[in-house]
Amino acid sequence: MPKRWIERLLFAETCALCGEPLGSSSVVCDRCLLSIHPQPEEDLLSIPYLDGYRAFTAYGESERKILELVKFQGFKHLAREIGKLVSSHLREYEKHLKPDAVTFIPTNPFRYWFLRGFDPVEEILKETSVNFERIIGRRWLFRKPLARVKSFRERQKLVKDAFYIKRGKIPRVSGGKILVVDDVLTTGSTASEIARLLKSAGAVEVYLFAVFRPH
Ligand SMILES: [Zn+2]
Repeated sequence: MPKRWIERLLFAETCALCGEPLGSSSVVCDRCLLSIHPQPEEDLLSIPYLDGYRAFTAYGESERKILELVKFQGFKHLAREIGKLVSSHLREYEKHLKPDAVTFIPTNPFRYWFLRGFDPVEEILKETSVNFERIIGRRWLFRKPLARVKSFRERQKLVKDAFYIKRGKIPRVSGGKILVVDDVLTTGSTASEIARLLKSAGAVEVYLFAVFRPH
């Protein structure tokens, strides 16, 4: 367990983002959390296999830092805070689409789940009142981390065959409209691979709700 993580958890007195005293909140102050404003955007990128998407806000500096605290330092409660922020936006998109099922793109089981013990996107979803289910599984593939690769094509190669439909879930997908939730939309390569997979399992339409998008 990284030392920094433990130190932060036990001794954090100042906000990891702005350095101001924390008061009652932990790691990130309320002011920094509330600085994440909705800047919704949809369907600007054309992503193969995906019928449409909506993103909650731009992936700026504070957003990136907050997500790093969640993903690499294991601050689960911050994922819940993000969930509170996006909740009404996700619900609105769900109401508009009327999907047959809502699911999420699972985190890499080795790099994230095993080291961290939770799935950030699942934690975000738990804080929304949206009914979701685990439909997609992710394989343990030892490949270069996606974050280091910038182009759509290169990323597309890295995510190829990384995902599968969980046992018994094909009937939930077949003939349906599926809404997939993810934390960051970068080039759309992962979303595209997920949409391709769901459509190969019989989904008719696939949409994405991303918390963050490139700005
Ligand atoms: Zn702060």
